[in-house]
Amino acid sequence: MFKLLKSLYNHKNIYMRKIALITGITGQDGAYLAKFLKGKNYRVIGTYTGHKPNLFRLKKLNISKKIILKKMNINSSIQILKILKRYNFDEIYNLAAQSYVDKSFENPINTNKVNALGALYLLEAIKKRDKKIKFYQASSSEMFGNSKNIFQSEKTKFEPQSPYAISKLFAHYITRHYRETYNIFAVSGILFNHESPLRDENFVSSKIIKGLIDFKKNKGKTIELGNINIKRDWGYSKEYVVQMWKMLQTKKPGDYVIATGKSHSLKELIDISTNYLNIKAKWKGKGINLKLVNIPDNRIIIRINKKYFRPNDIYSTKGNISKAKKFLKWKPKTSFKKLIKILINDKIKE
Ligand code: NDP
Repeated sequence: MFKLLKSLYNHKNIYMRKIALITGITGQDGAYLAKFLKGKNYRVIGTYTGHKPNLFRLKKLNISKKIILKKMNINSSIQILKILKRYNFDEIYNLAAQSYVDKSFENPINTNKVNALGALYLLEAIKKRDKKIKFYQASSSEMFGNSKNIFQSEKTKFEPQSPYAISKLFAHYITRHYRETYNIFAVSGILFNHESPLRDENFVSSKIIKGLIDFKKNKGKTIELGNINIKRDWGYSKEYVVQMWKMLQTKKPGDYVIATGKSHSLKELIDISTNYLNIKAKWKGKGINLKLVNIPDNRIIIRINKKYFRPNDIYSTKGNISKAKKFLKWKPKTSFKKLIKILINDKIKE
């Protein structure tokens, strides 16, 4: 009897509610996507690894109690199939990843196990269990590497430059393969950098903003950075997750670039941040000796350290968003300046 009731409850048609699985729900995008899907009345099941889920992002968005959390490693076909048997999913969003490019140089094997094989395990489980489940794969602009094209689109040649990018490229191609070979509604969102107050502190944007706020409060040490001339197309995570959902609502599955179409350097990020924080500073020196100096007392706010240069860095990224504009009606709303203000205002409150 209990089993029957449980299976009726889990069956989506009883409530006509869609059921989504989000791998990596404890991460930045996972948390925003969960919030968005709850707003659309989905039942949201999210997975975590480790002993306990890291709930700080879900709590910050006030949804930790509105979702169902299950322990699941995407490297375990047994764990994946167990969850797929338990719920009749309509959509699976694969956001789980070892998502640090620099760590992927230190640990290329684990990066590929999670990012590349993880996607394959999920797709295999969908193929075995229910080919009607729609699948979203979190692809990355890192796959373009140092592209010769100024703007990168879905048709641009991939030239990955890191174990992270290579792992993402495998997942990207295997997603396409399952779409074309097994007729599974599988899409890849090629997302360019996106930030938010939920971004991990180890990412460079968070490191800079936290460092500058600490400096302003007279608490901080000199911030050490690698190449600050690299340019990135930066957007707002909260807007990007909506596009993930939209990709699964189209008539025909495909791949989409999600970006702003504009590129900014880390140096610009620093200049906008110091300005907004009213730190009076100026750049001195060149190359490896470049420093940002606090004008009133000559303290060094930022210095360059070779240790933070990546073995194979990407110089510039800029997305061509024509396809997403046409088919998803994608229109980035948050400018780079506004995004930085959002990040600073949130950090100041902590
Ligand atoms: P985060 O690093 O914030 O989150 C990654 C998530 O992956 C965590 O919730 C983590 O959960 C989970 N995870 C790690 N290993 C495993 C595993 N073996 N099995 C199951 N889950 C695992 O990433 P973001 O939210 O920033 O990014 C989401 C996705 O989008 C990632 O795939 C990322 O590579 C990709 N992407 C991100 C971009 C960005 O600018 N943010 C740009 C382009 C692509 P736990 O802690 O419980 O292990």
